[in-house]
Amino acid sequence: MNEVRIPNNKEISIVKSKINQRFNNQQDQTSCVLCGKELKNQSKSFHKSHTVPFFCLENIKGLYKKNYNVLKAEYVGLRTPFSDKEYVGTNKAGVFYSICSKCDQEKFKIYESEKALLTMKPEEIVDSLALKIYLNELFNSRLRSFKNTLNHSELTDDQIIVSFFDSIGNTEEPTVEVDIRDFQENLDFAKRSFENGYGNYKIIYHNILDYTVPIAAQVSIPISHNVDFTKLQNVNVLNHKTLEDLLICIFPLKNKSVITVFYKTGDRLMKKYAKQFQKLSEEEKLREIFYLLIRYKASNYFFSPLIKDVLVDENIRGVCSIEDTAVKLGNFIMNLANFEDQNWKQNLPSILSEEYSIQRLLQKKSSEK
Ligand SMILES: [Zn+2]
Repeated sequence: MNEVRIPNNKEISIVKSKINQRFNNQQDQTSCVLCGKELKNQSKSFHKSHTVPFFCLENIKGLYKKNYNVLKAEYVGLRTPFSDKEYVGTNKAGVFYSICSKCDQEKFKIYESEKALLTMKPEEIVDSLALKIYLNELFNSRLRSFKNTLNHSELTDDQIIVSFFDSIGNTEEPTVEVDIRDFQENLDFAKRSFENGYGNYKIIYHNILDYTVPIAAQVSIPISHNVDFTKLQNVNVLNHKTLEDLLICIFPLKNKSVITVFYKTGDRLMKKYAKQFQKLSEEEKLREIFYLLIRYKASNYFFSPLIKDVLVDENIRGVCSIEDTAVKLGNFIMNLANFEDQNWKQNLPSILSEEYSIQRLLQKKSSEK
């Protein structure tokens, strides 16, 4: 029997950088996604957009692996030799390139400051928030789709690396295509709402907390189950319907935090979810919002390194391990989500509560010295 040789990190990272290089040279998207202005072929560059505003990330960064970084959402997930680094500098966290600088200026500057987030009504900025979220989700899905369709054997002679990337491509490809379709639709909706000032979103939660939470997020979350675990929709590959999602923004500021949760007006299932959510106590709502992130989102939000020891909590790991994957066995479809232990949610450390604020964590750290 041949011995299986696991490729080393250096070999893997060479292939990854080749993949990124190919993506940078692609010609599928060369103009601003919002206004259509040609950029790439006129030697202009895309604007460097941050999913979560840069100044929010600065408020949660901490010393990790000898530098000031934030932890990626992937930190709590399963890691393999093929995984990317679990941390990133604030300058590179959640960065994407799909619009021009003028669009960035016109559409996102209104909320991207501490003062604006603290003083503006959520109704005034939901269009902008949603627009940014879907731009980013669409960019990420297109990047994944591009990677999946590459011929990896052109990039390396290492068969293990080739088959690893090929197998990711094969499992992901059907979902990625559906994601691209859904995110494009949602982006068009957000764009119309923004341009007409409709504010076509229902806000189910908006709160300014008097402390800095150790998480930064601005994401769309496709929810499969209600607060009480009853089924809302199939979010697995076997479903071809457009998914309804909840939009979650968590903005850590210097001494405060702004959290806003909303959904597209008319989304029937999210309305059902909102009904149960509203019945929760203030404390339970914060726990639920944290749960939604780790339950449904494996990437695209950030933790402070100050919270890293809490993230190894077994309930967090449990919730993270649940996927909305369905296995078809003849006529029978088994949803892996049915194996979720409901106590995990109940027992989660409530990371958005004051107990885990940056202020408290720093206090605790200095008293340990
Ligand atoms: Zn533009």
